[in-house]
Amino acid sequence: MTATAAPAVLDRDGLNALVAALVAQGRTVVGPTVRDGAIVLAELSSADALPFGWGVELDAGRYRLVRREDGAAFAHSAGPQSWKNFLHPARERLWSADRTPEGDVSFTADEPETPSYAFLGVRPCDLRAIAIQDRVLAGGRYEDTGYGRRRSGAFLIAAECTEPGATCFCVSTGGGPAADPGYDLALTEMDGRFLVRVGSEEGAELLERVPHRPAGPDLEASARSAVDAARDHMGRSLPPVDLRTLMGASLDAERWDDVAARCLTCGNCTMVCPTCFCTTTEEVTDLTGDHTERWQRWDSCFDLDFSYLHGGPVRASARGRYRQWLTHKLSTWHDQFGTSGCVGCGRCVVWCPAGIDITEEVAALDAERTALGTETD
Ligand code: SF4
Ligand code: SF4
Repeated sequence: MTATAAPAVLDRDGLNALVAALVAQGRTVVGPTVRDGAIVLAELSSADALPFGWGVELDAGRYRLVRREDGAAFAHSAGPQSWKNFLHPARERLWSADRTPEGDVSFTADEPETPSYAFLGVRPCDLRAIAIQDRVLAGGRYEDTGYGRRRSGAFLIAAECTEPGATCFCVSTGGGPAADPGYDLALTEMDGRFLVRVGSEEGAELLERVPHRPAGPDLEASARSAVDAARDHMGRSLPPVDLRTLMGASLDAERWDDVAARCLTCGNCTMVCPTCFCTTTEEVTDLTGDHTERWQRWDSCFDLDFSYLHGGPVRASARGRYRQWLTHKLSTWHDQFGTSGCVGCGRCVVWCPAGIDITEEVAALDAERTALGTETD
């Protein structure tokens, strides 16, 4: 079988065999599972740990697990984590230094063992988010070597969407519920079976090792039509205008004051966002003063210190920081990296404690521009 092989079908035993084969290869298999009242991403020892029969109810600032009668494993939207928690972890030690008995200082670079990841159930929006982080963290002049190490061996199994969540809007960001190339295998769950498409030679080799059967044109056509239909059922949408023009024309919008009055500048939206990549470094010294460590940790443009320059922060107000975040996501990200910085996963909407909804804010900015007679489409 090759990367262009015809789609196959796995049943639940086949899915179990797939996970077992990945574990047997020595891979750390990570996928969705129910824990602490949410569907989180965690290491799986078997496909039985997938959230069969669980879905989620979502809204701005609201997330609830709900039971599903159909026993589906992948009929839930993005949870509080994304794959960046594994590829670009929240904290990572870079090096440590010790004072020697002679009074010198010795430095030790941190060289942790890099897990060989297999990600199971990567949503199409998250596949795009990984491609964005690849461009930022592994594709430019300033490579994050830890990210590069973890990413280079990762095996990706996408799970296409047939049931978008109430806060999903990937179609508005130029994506959709079908998986773009970049996966090794792509699953589409159909009534307890999993249509499998092969995206790489490694994916083809793995599929050969597990029990499967040819998909047949009917199942394939139903899967394609279920995924196509999902495009029309997004829970949210962005206004159909040129967002770069809108953001550029909205620098002095009154709406920024409105959102600033609600925004707690907590940074949750940047923590859960699968594309936000900013980090800072900090030194941690022990009480003796003889041992110090340098850690890299996620940073957020909502932190006051983030824009600290020569005696003060450049963006001291919540208005300035929210505007920076949204303008970077939807406009200046294009200038830096050639794409939008938003894949429409809806996480920032769900996990904002103030229930601030990026789609509502953009619609309000658009309405303000329209009211001023400067439409942007
Ligand atoms: S928009 Fe929401 S999640 Fe983001 S910083 Fe403001 S209050 Fe926090
Ligand atoms: S900005 Fe919000 S909707 Fe867009 S990718 Fe980030 S978390 Fe997802």
